[in-house]
Amino acid sequence: MSVLVTGGAGYIGGHMVLELLDAGEKVVVLDDLSTGFAWAVPDGVPLIVGDFGDMALVDEIVRAHQIDAIAHFAAKIVVPESVADPLLYYANNTAKARNLLECAVRNKVKHFIFSSTAAVYGEPKTNPVTEDVGLAPINPYGRSKLMVEWMLEDTAKACGLTYAVLRYFNVAGADPKGRLGQSTPQATHLIKVAVQAALGHRKGMDVFGTDYPTPDGTCIRDYIQVTDLVRAHVQALAYLRSGGASLTCNCGYGHGRSVLEVIKVVKKVTGIDFEVRLSGRRPGDPAALVAGADRIRAVLGWQPRYDDLEVIVRQAFEWERRLHNRKGG
Ligand code: UDP
Repeated sequence: MSVLVTGGAGYIGGHMVLELLDAGEKVVVLDDLSTGFAWAVPDGVPLIVGDFGDMALVDEIVRAHQIDAIAHFAAKIVVPESVADPLLYYANNTAKARNLLECAVRNKVKHFIFSSTAAVYGEPKTNPVTEDVGLAPINPYGRSKLMVEWMLEDTAKACGLTYAVLRYFNVAGADPKGRLGQSTPQATHLIKVAVQAALGHRKGMDVFGTDYPTPDGTCIRDYIQVTDLVRAHVQALAYLRSGGASLTCNCGYGHGRSVLEVIKVVKKVTGIDFEVRLSGRRPGDPAALVAGADRIRAVLGWQPRYDDLEVIVRQAFEWERRLHNRKGG
């Protein structure tokens, strides 16, 4: 049996492929390469360049490769873009996921692992946020993902497939063996931006908002290292295969760091000072978002290995340097 990884040429999906291979699994990647890279898929792993919403294509892949589980990472993930073009997000993240799910059901794929997001919580009133608080996404991105969670719940009840919904907090860092990292050129995520500023690949950086109700006035997030994150997926797959019931859980460490703290760590780890501009708030940013992270440990027995911001930043920095060199600087 093989695992189909949609978005397996991208950042998180690509790390999932590595983790599955390391666990001895057979893997097939389906990716349209809109933001992913063919070079990110290891030799020997079939890469099908195509659309995960193309049902004829997915049927063919599932049958040809004896797929027993789908890990679905392919998605559009830029919140402001989702606000400007919601139908793009509902088409890509929701409607196409529905097609993928129909293919899973009609081909009797047993398990489905879904990349969800803490954006389903919107602006939580208290932190840490546990899985059973009210779901109130505040943008089309979060809604487009929440609808898939609901489709999965209904489909599992009706059709017998089991699923794991994993709600990511802030994913960062890179493969500890240096094989992969965040490679999107226009990335907007804090740690990536800060290491680019340290390397001089961008001229300084902005802190978006210094008047939040947090100890230093900047936003607090729960940064989870990408290999820790994908290991949770591999454990979720083992759990489902051994008969575990469908599951929804947060993926985070259960504690947060502020934007200024992150920048301080980046300066310390790299030994490089860079310009930091204190700017206005970015629309739609909640003040704090920290995972209630008990369920994932209790149900899956998951234990983080890289819960150390200095380690995460060092991985991101080393990857950024490598990426820059591979592009010829
Ligand atoms: N942020 C920042 N400057 C940047 C990028 C991000 O101050 O150049 C802040 C952002 O406003 C948020 C936090 O860093 O408070 C994390 O943002 P990111 O985009 O990494 O992830 P998000 O939490 O939005 O998913």
